[in-house]
Amino acid sequence: MTADIIVVGAGIVGSACAFELALRGLTVLVLDSGQGGATGAGMGHLVAMDDSPAELALCSYSLDLWRQWAPRLDDTCAHRNCGTLWLAANEAEMHEAERKAATLRERDVACEMLDANRLQDLEPTLHPGLKGALRVSGDGILYAPNAAQWLLRQGGNGITRERARVNTIRGSRVHLDDGRQLDAGAVILANGIQAPALCPGLPVAPKKGHLLITDRYPGQIHHQLVELGYASSAHANSGTSVAFNAQPRPTGQILLGSSRQFDTLDPRIEGPVLGRMLARALDYLPGIGNLNAIRCWTGFRAATPDGLPIIGQHPDQPGLWLAVGHEGLGVTTAPATARLLAAGLLGERPHIASAAYSLERFSRALTAGAEG
Ligand SMILES: Cc1cc2nc3c(=O)[nH]c(=O)nc-3n(C[C@H](O)[C@H](O)[C@H](O)COP(=O)(O)OP(=O)(O)OC[C@H]3O[C@@H](n4cnc5c(N)ncnc54)[C@H](O)[C@@H]3O)c2cc1C
Repeated sequence: MTADIIVVGAGIVGSACAFELALRGLTVLVLDSGQGGATGAGMGHLVAMDDSPAELALCSYSLDLWRQWAPRLDDTCAHRNCGTLWLAANEAEMHEAERKAATLRERDVACEMLDANRLQDLEPTLHPGLKGALRVSGDGILYAPNAAQWLLRQGGNGITRERARVNTIRGSRVHLDDGRQLDAGAVILANGIQAPALCPGLPVAPKKGHLLITDRYPGQIHHQLVELGYASSAHANSGTSVAFNAQPRPTGQILLGSSRQFDTLDPRIEGPVLGRMLARALDYLPGIGNLNAIRCWTGFRAATPDGLPIIGQHPDQPGLWLAVGHEGLGVTTAPATARLLAAGLLGERPHIASAAYSLERFSRALTAGAEG
């Protein structure tokens, strides 16, 4: 046997899984092809999303873990506990903010409603016409590529890393492009949008996103700023949508998102989509048009039909474990994913119920649909 565990993919999810298992004394071999993925392209907002109880449970478990790890993260991880302001443009969105606040509080996520004056005090560069906001103070930001490296380093000698492309997986055996065949006690598939290539039939599809970063303008904004319409954009299942989402980088830069597109793997920047995204940003931050942008890029989120990741053993391939489909939340939810996966592998009781993240949920839904 090459190692107790082979992890395929060294993004934030694979790295967190390797870290958790090494912590439990297992030897872990992490294989990555070097082609990169969403971890290097994303925004790194650590956020309590509440589109479903299962989403909020995973986020809040994970955010607790990030907060526990935060004092040990090195400076390159650029972790900040800046909080999120969910912005309400009108009365209907204020009601939505109140609904969200009630849902978060049920899960003990600290939050407070802000009226228009308080919002202006906290973020004077925002459009003065906004009605108010919901402040979620435990949210934060992170530079995910370096956090993934940090997690792998914490595994010490328990983690070995190798640049290698996996071309086939059969249970706990992987075949590499260079002709080698490696065996382990278990294989964890954590290769993002490439997952269906190694595990045909997985319901994971790419969702393209654009991001843009400005030059350094310290003090322009202080919280991650997100319009309340973001959740409906994030969970749309077709079409192209944009929503205002702005992050204060520790460097003083502003990182702007976000867009979502389906049915494309073309990484080119699309002017019309970027234009819509920037127009949306101007609605909220009118002064942003005077700032210099220094780079924009695209990335692909690995989306499942219900927006929840797939975490757990493959029902038909003993020895193969899945940690894929984290869509726009994989940086937030990597620690909880890793804990759930480790608990499943080692027969421990999971900290939160895990059935909502199993691959079987899709076949259960199909069966229920056929019977209904
Ligand atoms: C535009 C955008 C904005 C985002 N914003 C946020 C955000 O604000 N907050 C948040 O929490 N999440 C965000 N996300 C989502 C988050 O970035 C992803 O969910 C997360 O990075 C997924 O990590 P991963 O480890 O599963 O996959 P990836 O980061 O895609 O890593 C997969 C790895 O597998 C490797 N690989 C692929 N195929 C093979 C193979 N055959 N053999 C060996 N190795 C292989 C690749 O080289 C890669 O390193 C965003 C994503 C995008 C695109």
